Amino acid sequence: MDTTLGWATLLTHGDVDPEEPGVISPPLHQSVNYAAATAEQFTELNERIQPPRYYRRFGNPTQARLEELLAKAEGADAALATASGMGAVTTTLLTLLSAGDHVVAQHSMYGGTLSMLRTLGKRFGIEVSFVDQTDTAAFEASITDRTKLFMLETPSNPLLALTDLDSVAALARARGILTWVDNTVATPINQKPLDHGVDLVMHSLTKAIGGHADLQAGVLIGRAELVERLWLTHTMVGAVTSPFDAWLALRGLRTLAMRVEWQNRSAQSVADYLAGRPEVLKVNYPGLATHPQHELARRQMRGYGCLLSFEVDGGRPAAERLIAALHLAARAPSLGGTTTTIVRPAAMWSNELTEEQLATAGVPSGLIRFAVGLEDQGDLIADLDQAFASLPPVGRA
Ligand code: PLP
Repeated sequence: MDTTLGWATLLTHGDVDPEEPGVISPPLHQSVNYAAATAEQFTELNERIQPPRYYRRFGNPTQARLEELLAKAEGADAALATASGMGAVTTTLLTLLSAGDHVVAQHSMYGGTLSMLRTLGKRFGIEVSFVDQTDTAAFEASITDRTKLFMLETPSNPLLALTDLDSVAALARARGILTWVDNTVATPINQKPLDHGVDLVMHSLTKAIGGHADLQAGVLIGRAELVERLWLTHTMVGAVTSPFDAWLALRGLRTLAMRVEWQNRSAQSVADYLAGRPEVLKVNYPGLATHPQHELARRQMRGYGCLLSFEVDGGRPAAERLIAALHLAARAPSLGGTTTTIVRPAAMWSNELTEEQLATAGVPSGLIRFAVGLEDQGDLIADLDQAFASLPPVGRA
């Protein structure tokens, strides 16, 4: 397949299986095991990396088709689909690290990743330094002779802070350290970390790539040699994608380009609107000229995504009143789906991170996260407008 095709074309034509020519919508293979015709073929399948037709924990034809398309979407050789985004995080840590190793991660990252590094990392003897992602020098200053991995997320959830991928990846490469980036918030349409020298890209497919809030899956994407190592661990971890979820993700990929373009436009309009509200103290969105890293966003992103966060005057009580007054945005976790979701991250992550850890992650209790769906942007803004109108005037909250 010609990889110079536009993204929308690549994602709709890029996964043709030579064994099933003429099939337009991908078939769904539910079988757990496949019979070999001969003893030699059985041995060959048993020894093969990611065999699609052997035993489901090792691979599956629908999953293989998804992996191939995801690798193309990020411009990589190979991919490994997992049961969830967190399944991809676990598989990464168990593959690339041993007791005594050191990781440099960011203060601001998805709560599950932070929680995993803080709790399991400690129990398994992995030392983690958390740094300010906006400062490349902070990554450099944290490196020790045991540093094996940089774990990045840009833009970060929920603060929408950016990591300078070119400079951080170059720093890591010069020291023989691997870089891993959670690209879930950006999507492959808006950002291609591998083009910036990063080694591994991770996505929660549960979000924009699935796109309809009806599947749970994750993926790791990179060089074949690295993905092979991840796969060997993955067969033992067992965080395997369900074929039906892989099938749904393939369907999601076909419309990803247009959904992301739509959400980029809507989120920008909502961010512009919020930035003009007197009740709003701060809006975090990389597409705003006032974002402290807007220039970096313009350099390393094609669009700025569906996710934004903001703080209102009056802190947590005012935030709760605003959320309660909205009719369209659902008070729910997750992002990148058809329905706009709104949540206070401090409430969502209270069972994973302590108040102190949330404060270190830069998440104030009144921060509101807004993940734009596929509704008309005018309706989302009208809904926000009526919700703000229901709040006491600024200064009297
Ligand atoms: N990374 C980011 C940025 C996320 O937002 C999430 C989930 O919210 C995850 C990873 C974890 O993905 P999953 O819920 O599919 O395990």
